[in-house]
Amino acid sequence: MKKTLVAATLASLAFSGGIASAQERICGTDIAIQHLIANNPQLESAYTQYEADVKQRTAALEAQNTNAAQKTTATYNVPVVFHVVLSQAQIDEIGGVSGIYDRIASQIDVLNTCYTGQNYNTDKGKILTQFQPLFGNPNITFGIAHTDPNGGGTTGVEIKIAPATFTGFDVTDNNIKKSSGGGFTTWDTKYVNIWITHITTASNGGQVLGYAYNPGLAQSMGDASLAGVVIDYLAFGRRSSIRQKFFGTADKGKTLVHELGHYFTLKHIWGDLPVGGGTCDKTQPHSDDDVADTPPQKDANQSTCPSGVKPNCTNSPGGEMYMNYMDYVQDACMVMFSKGQVTRMQTEFTPAGGSYQLQFNGGTLNWPTGISAVEAKNTFDIVPNPSNGVFSINFANTTADLRAVTVVNMMGQSVKQINTTEPANSLLIDMKGMPAGVYTVNCRFDEGIVTKKIVIE
Ligand SMILES: [Zn+2]
Repeated sequence: MKKTLVAATLASLAFSGGIASAQERICGTDIAIQHLIANNPQLESAYTQYEADVKQRTAALEAQNTNAAQKTTATYNVPVVFHVVLSQAQIDEIGGVSGIYDRIASQIDVLNTCYTGQNYNTDKGKILTQFQPLFGNPNITFGIAHTDPNGGGTTGVEIKIAPATFTGFDVTDNNIKKSSGGGFTTWDTKYVNIWITHITTASNGGQVLGYAYNPGLAQSMGDASLAGVVIDYLAFGRRSSIRQKFFGTADKGKTLVHELGHYFTLKHIWGDLPVGGGTCDKTQPHSDDDVADTPPQKDANQSTCPSGVKPNCTNSPGGEMYMNYMDYVQDACMVMFSKGQVTRMQTEFTPAGGSYQLQFNGGTLNWPTGISAVEAKNTFDIVPNPSNGVFSINFANTTADLRAVTVVNMMGQSVKQINTTEPANSLLIDMKGMPAGVYTVNCRFDEGIVTKKIVIE
C-alpha cells in the first residue's frame, strides 16, 4: 500500500532569538577597495581610470537616450548564484536549510520589485514631491540559475557548513571567494555571484552588512574573481515573521538592493569617502557620486529614517535625497534609484560594460535538458498535469533520501517548499490560488535534484 504524505507549507519554523539590537549599518564596499589599494598602491590609478571610463560611457549613453529613437528600453534578465557559508548554529538561527531557501525566495522578490520600479505606488509617500519625477526603473530582473557554467543542473544555491569555530570572514578577506579558503569559488561573470555568510564586526564595533565589487573594476584591478556581492546572513532576505532574526532594521532585503547598485557601478550618494569624512566640496576626489540628478550630499544618513526636507550642500529644492537606495537609511526608508543612477547602471549592459555578458546568459535560469543518474534512479510523474493546482508527485520507487520538494515559478522564485525525511511513494501538493503558468517541481535527494515541469491552469 502506498503511503501518502499530505504536504504542509513551512511558512515559518521555530526560530530562536529575536531582533538584533539596533546598531549602525556599514557598507564595506569602499573599505574593501581602499584595502586593496593600500596593499598595492599601483591600483589607485587603475581605480581612477576605471571611474573615468564609467563616467564617460554613462555620458555617452545619456546622450544616446536623449535621442528617443535610440533610447534603451531593454529588460535585462540576470541569473544569480547564491554561495552560502555558515556554521550549523548560524543556519539553525535562521530556520535551517529551508530558512535559507525562504530568505532567498523573499530576497529575489525584493530585488525584482525594486529593480523594476514596481514599488513606486506603495512607496511614493516616502519620496519628497520634488524627487518623484526622478524615480528611475532599472528594468533588471533577477532569477536563480539552474544551469551551472559546465552545463550541469543546479539549484543555484551552494551551501557549505563552516566549522563550529567559524567567526566569519572579514571585509578584506577574499577567502570567501575561494574553495581553498573555506568559501566557494566564483562562477564566471555571466552570473551574479552572491555569497551569504557572516561578515566580522568592523573595528569601530559596527556591523558590515555587505560589500560589492563591480565586475569591470575587479578585472581592471587584476582579479576578476572578486566580482560579486558578499552579504551578512542577518541582513539577507525580507522578514516574514517577528520571530525571525535580522540585524536591526536591515530586515526588508534592501542591503542587497544597495550592494547590487555598487555591483552595477553606483557609488554612495555622498561619494566614496568614508562615513564621517564626507565633504560638500564636490571638486574634491571621491566626494561625489558622479550622477547629475542626485543632489550634492555631504555624508551618510546612517541607520535613520529622515522625513521632510533635509537641507543639503547647495540648499537645492528637496534637499538631500535620503530615500535613495545608495544612502544608509533604514531598509523601510530607502525606496528609489534616480533616473541618472539607472542610466549609469544600464551602461554596464553596453558592450564595454562589466555586466554586458549577463544579458546573454538568461538561458541558465532553466534546468538543462538530458537525464542524469540521480534522475534515472529517482524518476517521478506529476499527476494530473496540467493541473488545477492540486497534484500528486508519484515516485517510481519508494524514496529513501528525499529531503525537500520545492516548487519554483517562471521567475525562479520558490513558491512552495515541503521538507521531509520520511520514505514516500507519493506526495500531494496543494497550490490552489497560485497564478496559472508553468512551474518547476524540484525534488531534492541527498545525491542530487530531480526536476519536472507542471502546468497550472
Ligand atoms: Zn554601499
